[in-house]
Amino acid sequence: MNAAGMQQERAGTLKRIEAAKKALGKDLIILAHFYQEDDIVQYADFVGDSLQLAQAASMQKDARYIVFCAVSFMAEMARIICLPEQEVLHPEPDARCPLADMAAIEKVEAVWETLKAAGKKIIPVVYVNSNADLKAFCGRHGGLVCTSSNAEKVFSHVFSQGASLFFFPDENLGRNTARRLGIKDSEIVLRDPSSRSDDTDRGRMEKARMFLWKGYCYVHTEFLPSDIMRVKDRYEGIRVVVHPECTPEVVSLSDYAGSTAFIKDIVEKSGPGTKWAIGTELNFVNRIKNGNPDKLVVPLRESGCSEMSKVTPQKLLAVLEGLLDNRYPGRVAVEDSVAKDAKAALKRMLEVS
Ligand code: SF4
Repeated sequence: MNAAGMQQERAGTLKRIEAAKKALGKDLIILAHFYQEDDIVQYADFVGDSLQLAQAASMQKDARYIVFCAVSFMAEMARIICLPEQEVLHPEPDARCPLADMAAIEKVEAVWETLKAAGKKIIPVVYVNSNADLKAFCGRHGGLVCTSSNAEKVFSHVFSQGASLFFFPDENLGRNTARRLGIKDSEIVLRDPSSRSDDTDRGRMEKARMFLWKGYCYVHTEFLPSDIMRVKDRYEGIRVVVHPECTPEVVSLSDYAGSTAFIKDIVEKSGPGTKWAIGTELNFVNRIKNGNPDKLVVPLRESGCSEMSKVTPQKLLAVLEGLLDNRYPGRVAVEDSVAKDAKAALKRMLEVS
C-alpha cells in the first residue's frame, strides 16, 4: 500500500474507534500507558505510568469494560484490581514485557528457599513489571509490589520493619533505589538465575540488606554514559533526566532520575528556554517534546519499546467493535487464587504509597 493509501486507512480506523467509543459511552474506560503511540493515547480516558494506571483502574467502579493499552502485565494488574463483574480487555495479549518475563515463578521460589537459609527476616518486593504469579508470591509471603514512582517508599517500609529485602526482577531499579537510600554495594547480594556460581557466602548473606535479581529492561539499558557526554557537549546548559531502569552509571551521571510521571512533571514545570535530554522510551519523549514547544527536548538516544508498539489502533478497534457485538476479544483472565494473593501485595503497595 502506498503512503496515501496508508493515510486513508489510518483515518478510517481512527474514525471507527471514535464512533465505537461514543456508542459504548460510560460503559467503557480506556487506559493507556505513557509509552503508547499518540493514535492510542488520544482515545484514552487516563494516561499514566504503572502506578497512576493501577490507581485509575481501581477507581473505575461504574465502567463495564476496561480496555488496557499497554503490555500484558499491566492488563493483568487491572484484572486483579477491578471488580469481578467488570471485563478487562487487552488489545494485544502478545505484547509482553521482556523484563517481566526474566523472572519465572519456579526460579524465584528456588532462590527464595536459598535465601531463607540466611536465617533472617526477608520481605519480598516485586516490581510492577512482573507477571501475576510473582505478585501472588509476594502476597503469600507478606511482601509488596512497587513501581518506579514509589520504590523508595516501599523499600523504606520494608527496612522500617527490620527486614532485608528480596527485590525482583529489575536489578537496576533495585541498585538505583538502594543508592538513594544510602545502602552500600557491599550490602547487596545479586542472584543470577542463569548462573551456577551465585554468591552464597554465609557471612555476606547474613549481612546483606538487599538481594537483587539479575533482570533488566532492554529499552532503558540502551542509554550509555557516552550519550550523556554527547548531549552535554552539544547543548550548553542541557539537563539530563532518566528513568531508574537505566544503569546506575547512567543514573549517577544524570541530573535527575525518576519515573515517567516524574520526568513529565519536571520538564513541564521548568521555565521556557530550558533544555532537556530525556532517557526513556521514545514515544513518551516525543510527546513531551511536542507538549513543550517553548523548551528544547531531545531524546538522550532513540530507544523505543517494540512490545508497547504491538498495541495498534487496528487492534484497539477490534476490541471496541467486538464489545459492540457482545464479544470480548482480548479478554484478560487471572486464576482466582493467583488474583487473591496478588491483590494482597498490590493492596499493601497502595497503602504505603
Ligand atoms: S520499556 Fe522496558 S520495562 Fe517497559 S514494557 Fe518495554 S521492555 Fe518492559
